[in-house]
Amino acid sequence: MTARILDGRAMGAEIKAELRDDIRRYIEVAGRAPGLVIVRVGGDAASGVYSKVILRVAEEVGIKASLEQLPILTTADELHSLLMRLNNDETTQGIIVQMPLPAHLSQKMVADTVSASKDIDGISPQSAGNLFLGLPSFLPSTAAAVMEILERTQTVLAGKRVVILGRSNVVGKPLSMMLLQKNATVTVCHSRTVDLPKFTRQADVLITAVGKAQSINAEMVRPGAVVIDVGINTTQEGGIVGDVDFTSVRQVAGSLTPTPGGVGPLTNVLLLKQCMQAAWSTLDIEMPDHHSAGRYQ
Ligand code: NAP
Repeated sequence: MTARILDGRAMGAEIKAELRDDIRRYIEVAGRAPGLVIVRVGGDAASGVYSKVILRVAEEVGIKASLEQLPILTTADELHSLLMRLNNDETTQGIIVQMPLPAHLSQKMVADTVSASKDIDGISPQSAGNLFLGLPSFLPSTAAAVMEILERTQTVLAGKRVVILGRSNVVGKPLSMMLLQKNATVTVCHSRTVDLPKFTRQADVLITAVGKAQSINAEMVRPGAVVIDVGINTTQEGGIVGDVDFTSVRQVAGSLTPTPGGVGPLTNVLLLKQCMQAAWSTLDIEMPDHHSAGRYQ
């Protein structure tokens, strides 16, 4: 068997086209484009690249995005004041704070301060709590990207055994909640899991978010399984590979995301989709159907 390749770039292009239409409709109703602000304090090279990609894709679809780049020595009070100002700014519908923050700033303060109604990357305790309770919520965008791939490829989840490798707050944990809501039987594995292949071989859908290059081989995959590779790992030669050994696993899996070109290109698009959900919810009208449907509840 040779796996069907799940093309994240093609799906991203499809969602961007949907977003452009949606934003056109929003501007007709609201009289202005939705606004998104990325806050970055100092920051590493990776977060710089990610910010630029979000700004570029936002411009492509018609969201007015800007970057608030703060110096690395910004105090907690200064960051808090900026976030409060953005919370109260009616031209800003979505706020993202780039991680990692410098060591003297607390991620918890940020998560507690960003208004739940503008928390488009689902980092706040309120968003996480809503997700846990099965209430509509903003979702961490990477986890939302995985669900979008499963949804767009019409992958049946009800009654299926889904195995997630990784239990981070941004990928594994939120995904486990979303998949439970889709009536999958979910197993979450992590670094202390004993006999990982025993679990991975049972998976109808295998989702890997570990960060270990090509560590999942064909023997660990059930024939015909759907394999979603979230991992992004840099090789010694400077290339990018996933957690999955693509060449061997594609001979066994039923379908498989490539790296690059799988989950990655969808993450920022899903962030913008959630910015539109935030924008519509500020208007005194019912949110378009396609947004409530995209919330996995
Ligand atoms: P993380 O916070 O470092 O979490 C990694 C998880 O993998 C942890 O739960 C860890 O277990 C588990 N793990 C480590 N070694 C393992 C092993 N040998 N067997 C089973 N589980 C193991 O990472 P993350 O932020 O979730 O990211 C995971 C990967 O996804 C990274 O490669 C990252 O670059 C990538 N990523 C991609 C995107 C995207 O847009 N495509 C976005 C975010 C992240 P413990 O909890 O026990 O330590």
